[in-house]
Amino acid sequence: MTDRREQLAENLARVEERISAACAAAGRERADVTLIVVTKTYPASDVRLLAELGVRHVAENRDQDAAPKAAECADLPLNWHFVGQLQTNKVRSVVTYADVVQSVDRPKLVTALSAAAVRAGRETGALIQVALDAESGERGERGGVAPDGVEALADAIAAAEGLRLDGVMTVAPLAGTYAGRPRAAFERLREIATGLRVSHPAANMVSAGMSADLEDAVAAGATHVRVGTAVLGVRPRLR
Ligand SMILES: *Cc1c(COP(=O)(O)O)cnc(C)c1O
Repeated sequence: MTDRREQLAENLARVEERISAACAAAGRERADVTLIVVTKTYPASDVRLLAELGVRHVAENRDQDAAPKAAECADLPLNWHFVGQLQTNKVRSVVTYADVVQSVDRPKLVTALSAAAVRAGRETGALIQVALDAESGERGERGGVAPDGVEALADAIAAAEGLRLDGVMTVAPLAGTYAGRPRAAFERLREIATGLRVSHPAANMVSAGMSADLEDAVAAGATHVRVGTAVLGVRPRLR
């Protein structure tokens, strides 16, 4: 059996090759795309190894797992991203370790995050999670605001103390018109991001693409890709 560090190093190298190739194909600089490794379900020891291997951005989707993991890894030079559906009763904990919350999708969450960030004396980055398959006024099955709700939410975040509007995030829909068409989904997200920057020029993060579709995301202008399985392996159970 290969040792874990070697395995992670190999996987990282393969993902790095994929990102580089996708950047080259799209005529983009490699430096314009940031790799975020999604460490959910994997132990703090893996996070530590990843940091030693040069990873600087990690993501988690459940506060119960993320909070102790981030505490164990507090000595590492890591940026923590929160990418899961977030209940308002968890925000006080999340803002203590998350540099960016990528799953902001409703006004109530903006209010709660803002209050928690101010209380913690932190500035928390916020991405609007867009549910590309959600109807007007509804939320996506896995969270996210419908595209026509982005502007109002952006204004709310921009006006909220303790929060910094950083951009948008999406997960390629599994159902609806974008099912099986991640490239089209990410192109739509790019349009939304471009529209957002008209009124919020600093909101230039576009978080899209996972292990299966990171090439599509890079081709469609993503600035951040969130890769779990391809680096850490297939997760033991679905979350
Ligand atoms: C788990 C997760 C990822 C990573 O998915 P993989 O297919 O394992 O690369 C990315 N984004 C979000 C929001 C996730 O929950």
